[in-house]
Amino acid sequence: MEFDFAYAFEDAISAPSLYKRIGVFGSTGSIGKQTLDVIRANPNLFSATILTAQSNAELLIEQALEFKPHAVVIGDTKKYELVKEALKGIETVVMAGEQSLETAAAMDCFDMMMAGIVGFAGLKPTLQAIKTGKHIALANKETLVVAGDVVMLMAQQMGVSIIPVDSEHSAIFQCLVGEKNNPIEKIILTASGGPFVGRKPNFLVNVKREHAIQHPNWSMGAKISIDSASLMNKGLEMIEAKWLFDLKPSQIEIVIHPQSIIHSMVQFKDNSIKAQMGLPDMKLPIQYALSYPHRFENDFPRFNFAKSATLTFDPPDIKTFRNLGLAITALNQGGNMPCILNAANELAVYGFLKNRLGFLDMTEVIERTMANMPFIENPTLEEYFESDGEARNFAASLINL
Ligand code: NAD
Ligand code: MG
Repeated sequence: MEFDFAYAFEDAISAPSLYKRIGVFGSTGSIGKQTLDVIRANPNLFSATILTAQSNAELLIEQALEFKPHAVVIGDTKKYELVKEALKGIETVVMAGEQSLETAAAMDCFDMMMAGIVGFAGLKPTLQAIKTGKHIALANKETLVVAGDVVMLMAQQMGVSIIPVDSEHSAIFQCLVGEKNNPIEKIILTASGGPFVGRKPNFLVNVKREHAIQHPNWSMGAKISIDSASLMNKGLEMIEAKWLFDLKPSQIEIVIHPQSIIHSMVQFKDNSIKAQMGLPDMKLPIQYALSYPHRFENDFPRFNFAKSATLTFDPPDIKTFRNLGLAITALNQGGNMPCILNAANELAVYGFLKNRLGFLDMTEVIERTMANMPFIENPTLEEYFESDGEARNFAASLINL
């Protein structure tokens, strides 16, 4: 399958107006809140016209009263009345339940979706937004891990841009601006290594939720924090990069860079390497995804070369952090294997967060699920959904959920 990466640039460059109405899906999460910070700081450029949350009705109400969006969705249907009552003084449409996310995604009150829902749950609303012609600022990497071929093809057919928000992919995207016909030799994804960088299995076996959730450089939601600690996050990002930039697995390299200053690099055919740098702050890739192809002023803290002395680079320890190895296997196998990996990982992380599984047991659950699910080389979207469901059931039976 051929993807024309360049079309995304041209499409966005020819956008008639700078002003964008943003549908913030997952507005109460780490990405969602920072997206609203960017929108709040640029009221002449952006507005938030859709807000959605799974269960944090209080924050959703607060956000809605501030931004007065066209519509809000609360995932938990038990909280519908609470939200409806709180918003009766404004003209916001209030909806509830999983299906309403797709209804909201199809509305024409927004130009760009911030895909900030976590996990597989983000896939269907994102597909719906693409189908109805919205550009996507993509934070939800699981969308591409599960069904990258379907999503990218649909985006291409609809002429919509998928602009990465994940800091590494935003870095690569920024390095590619102005390089339209210059082939990539490889990309180098940087990884902080998470809170357990340099640790060995005898340490990891005793790791608890409280340790794993504390990332040294980034403050993020619970699931991605655990994925970062296990290096699964970097594996998911390799798969995400494959689809975003139309790469072969052999063109994607990982390097551990604990300072998180270089956010990723592209090496071109002439051996020149471009890097994008800055302090670790998700607001920058979020702002860039909303403002692309322009850059807007902001007051984010600046990197100071005089103060920050050393940048270091090491290879990843795949023997210890086996989740990364499993993700690379899934990346190489292709088909429905990344979807299976993702489903098993979501269940394993859930089990770990609920203290039902040890840190290293997550790897066992993922490995056994991958070994037990039927492989499909060229799945349809329906088959991706089925693979996800079957893999979830199998993984849940291993965890005793
Ligand atoms: P989070 O847990 O902080 O927020 C998740 C949001 O999704 C919340 O608004 C929540 O209400 C909503 N949500 C959760 N489950 C849902 C469901 N089943 N249905 C509908 N909505 C649901 O997560 P986050 O850290 O903001 O991450 C969001 C996505 O962005 C993830 O895919 C993550 O990998 C990606 N990402 C996050 C960061 C970061 O710095 N936080 C960086 C790069 C990529
Ligand atoms: Mg990232």
